[in-house]
Amino acid sequence: MTTLVDTDLLSDIKAFGAADVSACFSCGTCTATCPLSDNDGTFPRRIIRYAQVGMRDELLSSKELWTCYHCGLCSDSCPTEADPGEFMAAARRYAIASYEPTGLSRILFTRPVAGSLIATAVAAFFAIFMYASHGPQDTASLALFTFVPEGLIHWTGVAVMVALALSGVVGITGMARGVARSEGVSLPTLLGGRAALSRTAAALWASLGIESLGQRRYRQDCKDDSPAEPLYRRRWLIHALTIWGFLGLFSATILDWGLALAGVKETGTPIPLWYPSRLIGTLAGFSLLYGVSMFMVNRVRQVNRAAMVSTASDWLLLVLLWITGATGFFIEVALYVSDAPRWGYWVFLFHVAVAMELMLLLPFTKFAHAMYRPVALFFYALAADKSKQTV
Ligand code: SF4
Ligand code: SF4
Repeated sequence: MTTLVDTDLLSDIKAFGAADVSACFSCGTCTATCPLSDNDGTFPRRIIRYAQVGMRDELLSSKELWTCYHCGLCSDSCPTEADPGEFMAAARRYAIASYEPTGLSRILFTRPVAGSLIATAVAAFFAIFMYASHGPQDTASLALFTFVPEGLIHWTGVAVMVALALSGVVGITGMARGVARSEGVSLPTLLGGRAALSRTAAALWASLGIESLGQRRYRQDCKDDSPAEPLYRRRWLIHALTIWGFLGLFSATILDWGLALAGVKETGTPIPLWYPSRLIGTLAGFSLLYGVSMFMVNRVRQVNRAAMVSTASDWLLLVLLWITGATGFFIEVALYVSDAPRWGYWVFLFHVAVAMELMLLLPFTKFAHAMYRPVALFFYALAADKSKQTV
């Protein structure tokens, strides 16, 4: 296989916020401290070396890029202060921008002012688009779907999900093909016969269930989560609550739509708090808001390695998630107070616009790690299974 050398690779990754790793002399101290280096004893210095010598394809097809959860152990132990943990974070931003072909990610990650303007313009577009078809604001009860027609929200949401799926498939396919090639995984390896299928199913469960939802390695290996740290401040829990909250809100939206479709729910009317979709949505909203608020506080206070350096793109994701969660609660309050407050309509319009933006921009922001990390964890689980068999 021919290896193409990209002489601009290191300076390009620097534009995504990396510390200067040109001082790294491959001493291997970070490898000795990294909890992930048990696999082959070369991580993370191998990824740094790829960047130093311009091995772009090898860097982009490294599953470890995504399995690193920025615990900071490597940065604390580096004798040259090359900050390998922050380098890995920047390399992930670089990878997100490289997997998608439009160039939008690159702008959002490397040009804070242009990125903020784009984010504002997208939210404004959705808000104006919805408002253009608005109906009356009922003052007797908060008739949100009379103000912004439910059908308009539904079909705009469908269009956003289709765009998200297309962008996601392009990015994931490019990334997965690269990782599969470097790991020697092919379709017959995954699907050829019962043993292969069972290995694939086990790797899927390890990736999606045990690691992504259960946060196993995050819980076990993160040094900020020492027993002295109160549970409510542990990084893995904050991260898990954010994921569970987001997935819960997404599920509640789909359930709500399904119940309406099945004719079980009277659409457009306030429903009691114990109603399944409302209950799931409320609990998930608390979970999301707590997780995101803690991430924000940690970044402002710089409480751990992962929170020491904050880019505009880090804040963009947190702010969009926080607005989506907080406005959801404001709408809930507006629904249950008497006299249908007019502000409830405007908060609703804002909530829908930002939620649409969040989903549309998912593959182009830091949020894209939610797509790529499970894929990398899948290959990680396959490799772990293979090495078990060869022992
Ligand atoms: S500890 Fe620092 S100098 Fe040593 S290999 Fe890791 S990044 Fe390079
Ligand atoms: S930040 Fe933690 S997981 Fe990531 S490379 Fe460094 S030591 Fe390993």
